[in-house]
Formats: sequence, C-alpha cells, structure tokens
Amino acid sequence: MKTISVRASRNYTVSIAPGLLDRTGELLRPLTGASRAALVCGDRVWPLYGERTAASLEAAGFSVCVKVIPHGEEHKTLATYGELLNFFVEKELTRSDLVVALGGGVTGDLAGFAAATYQRGVGFVQLPTTLLAAVDSSVGGKTAVDLPGGKNQAGAFYQPLAVVCDTDTLSTLSEEEYRCGCAEVIKYGVLFDRGFFDSLRRTPVSGQYEDVIAACVAFKRDAVEADEFDRGARRLLNLGHSFGHAVESCSGFTVRHGEAVAIGMAMIARAAAARGLCAEACRDEILSLLRAYALPTRTSLPAAELLAALRRDKKRGGDTLSLIVPREIGRCEIVPVSLAEAGEWLRDGGAL
Ligand code: MG
Repeated sequence: MKTISVRASRNYTVSIAPGLLDRTGELLRPLTGASRAALVCGDRVWPLYGERTAASLEAAGFSVCVKVIPHGEEHKTLATYGELLNFFVEKELTRSDLVVALGGGVTGDLAGFAAATYQRGVGFVQLPTTLLAAVDSSVGGKTAVDLPGGKNQAGAFYQPLAVVCDTDTLSTLSEEEYRCGCAEVIKYGVLFDRGFFDSLRRTPVSGQYEDVIAACVAFKRDAVEADEFDRGARRLLNLGHSFGHAVESCSGFTVRHGEAVAIGMAMIARAAAARGLCAEACRDEILSLLRAYALPTRTSLPAAELLAALRRDKKRGGDTLSLIVPREIGRCEIVPVSLAEAGEWLRDGGAL
C-alpha cells in the first residue's frame, strides 16, 4: 500500500492500493469515534461497490445509512445538496458521526460540501472510484456545488479525515472516464516533472495506476501545502483550466471536464509557443502525449464565444486572467493577461 501524508488545516493520509474497499472500516476506525456513517454513493457506483463498502464499515462497528445520488455534473446542484442535508437530519447524524463519499468527483464534491456545512462540519472521508477523483478532486479539500450561473460557485475548503483509493475500482471505468482522468495526470507532468511526463509515454496510465496516482497525489499535496486556500502557488493546478472551463461551459457541458482540460492545455501550449514562451518542441510533445491518450486538442467553438465565457468566469477576479503557461516540460508559470489581450491568446491557441 502506498500512503501519502497531507499537512493542511487538518492532517490526513491518502492510502492507495488494490482491494482497499474491503478494508475501509478497519482503516477509518482509528481516526474517529463515530458510531454512525452516512455512506453517500453515486447511482452507478452503488451496484458495483456499495454493499462491500457498507459491509466493511459495519464490520468495524459503524452503523451505516446509505444515500444513493444520481450521477452526472447536472446533479451537482443545491437541490441534491439540500436532499443530502435533509437525509442527515432524518438519520439523526450528529457532529461526531461520519460522512463517507464513495464515487467520482461529483459525489465527493457534493458530499464534502454537505459534510462541511451540516451542523457546521462533520467528519468526512473520500473513497474515490474514478481516476479523476483519485488524482485530483478527492485530495486538497475543495468541495462545492454548481449554481445556474456557474460551476463550483458555492463551496468550502474542507479537508477530509482520510482518502482511501482502491485501485481495483478503476477497472470498471468507461473508456471516456479513463481518458478524462488521464488529462489531469498529463497536466501534473507538464507542470512539475519531466521524468513523470516521459513515463506516461513509455507505459500507459492503466498499466501503472498505483505509481501514477501516488505521484499525482504527491504533486497535489505539495501545491496544497504551499497554498491551501488557492491564492498563490496552488493556482498552477489550473493549467488548461481557464480555456478548458470556457470550452466546457460554451459546449453546454457536452464536452467533459477532462476533455476540456486537454483542449485547454493544447491551446495554451500553442499560444505559449507562438509567443516564444516555450519551444515548439515543448508544444509538440504536449500535443502528442494528449493525442496518444486519444484526448482532443482542438475546439471548433469560435474565439468570440470562448472570450465571452472567460469574461463571465472572471467577473469576480477583476479584468485580469491568471493563465498558467508552460515554459518547458516540468515548469510552468502564472502569467497575468488582461481580458483585452485574451482574445489574441485564444486565437494563438488555435480558436477560430
Ligand atoms: Mg480539473
């Protein structure tokens, strides 16, 4: 088993290994005196892994109640969040009890925000079952729901008591979910580590899940420890996300998050090369690794629409975007760009 310790406003351990779901109860028992555990689970994950997880929690002495929620970003809403809170009330969950999120990013974000706010905060654990949740959303304490006006517009920084990642659950990922997770994995290589980037070309992510997830969690841990509340260095993790969010929202969320991040990374790599901020070889290596994982590198959405989306996104940040720009593989920089200049960056990135 690989374990990574995170030191933030709460310290916790991320455990990564095959077969961990059956050990969930045993791993959590020393961390909490909770008598009850509310298991929150996506509706596609429940039939695959729900009973086993509940049984493991029960064997460790937790009395378990289960809330199955519908899958998909369109359900990451105030309505589902309200349902969760009401469920906790109905089951008489107390502040000393535990909320356990079993599933992907949507489940973790929703259950985490509900745990952060129910009775001003109840213990919370993440059991990620997608690659994207394992390498990104389950670690670092960002929890949120979407509002009609935008993604993740209501949320809290709320660190879990533990993250337990059973790599066996990744065997049931759809091809699309796998690819989306790989986009975030490639992001870490471009941001932080040439050697890691190269290893993704030599061996597919699916052939080295434990090593890849442990490496990504360690990269994310370092960013979170340096800047838990996302005002400085943690913003590097937004590589590919400024343009990516614009693509995601202009597509009406038909382009999935990971695919949008891939397109966003490709665009910023093109723009960086066009402006002499990185070598053309660096741009080509990024594009070619994304393509090797069958990820998209272009959008047919017009630059004007993407710019309007960037403007909406930036309402609260004033008129300056913080673009994350690759300088070489393993080293990126935060570059402030005015909204007036952003259209040029989008066109240099290949938008029409
Ligand atoms: Mg992301």
